[in-house]
Amino acid sequence: MHTDSIEALLSLIRERQTFVVTSHARPDGDAIGSALGLSYLLEAMGKQVHVAFADPVPSIHQLLPGADRISRALPQSKPDALIVLECDSLERTGFRIADFERMDARLVINIDHHRSGRDYADFNWIDAEASAVGAMVYELVIAAGVTISPPMATCLYAAVLTDTGSFTYPSTVAATFGLAEHLLQSGAAANSVAQAVYFSHTPGKIRALGAALFKMEIEDCVAWSWITLEEMQRASATIEDCEGVVNYLISIAGVRAAVFFREVPDREHFRLSLRSKNGVDVARVAEAFGGGGHQNASGCTVEGPLELAKRRVVTELRQACTAVI
Ligand code: 5GP
Repeated sequence: MHTDSIEALLSLIRERQTFVVTSHARPDGDAIGSALGLSYLLEAMGKQVHVAFADPVPSIHQLLPGADRISRALPQSKPDALIVLECDSLERTGFRIADFERMDARLVINIDHHRSGRDYADFNWIDAEASAVGAMVYELVIAAGVTISPPMATCLYAAVLTDTGSFTYPSTVAATFGLAEHLLQSGAAANSVAQAVYFSHTPGKIRALGAALFKMEIEDCVAWSWITLEEMQRASATIEDCEGVVNYLISIAGVRAAVFFREVPDREHFRLSLRSKNGVDVARVAEAFGGGGHQNASGCTVEGPLELAKRRVVTELRQACTAVI
């Protein structure tokens, strides 16, 4: 997006007073960090902000400044604007459309960096090149000329750190390190964020990881694994504990596409996390199953039974690999 579009967005913000900020269901580091970072920007501009997520904040992000102010409900009163981060539709927030209709925001602003991003709002800023929505909020902060406070810096740093896979994904460019340097100079608590994200796992997470990795399967360039509700129970693992297993599958030499299946409580569906490297596009595979995401990281939900779901998805992934040979 050009600078004048950022200026247009800033004008829309300046003209308004009350804001609701939300992001996607099962929020991750970018969803939470960018929403909180944006809330600090809006407050610095003299605005009133209500941050709401349909799902709880995962424990690893609960220490982020402002996380304790995140509500699980949209407000009853009508805001001047609703800002939706990282979502390709209002449904992706996890709130019911009826809740949005009841709230009846005067303006809807969509800020996203997914390739599967869509123009569903009154104002849409979609930058598929951005490493994180947190990096887009950072651009907004710079354009607004607002001084970055330590809490804002910490939240935006957490967003970028997690959504770049610790500065390893192809979206990491020189400017990403420039942003990180500026955020640290502004007081980002980088070490606390790293401790929370990488060194605060539950025993259940590590047991679930062991169970899932032990039965991993590999065919050609595709690796996959899964966890059932029974296995989660045996490992004392929560849904949150199952995040990130797929990153170990894609870390294997020669594997270019990986998928992790987690059985969901209805026992009829599986949540999928897909990852790729070396030019393989898993966003398209997720989109084919009704989900979305980025070229190298995407997700979707598929119907069981597990054996059929695995066969369908692995076939698509093998095709995605051959498409770039
Ligand atoms: P994860 O595997 O970490 O849950 O998700 C990887 C990426 O795909 C994230 O950027 C996430 O926002 C996106 N993603 C995951 N599930 C879905 C989905 O069901 N729909 C869409 N549009 N994006 C998804």
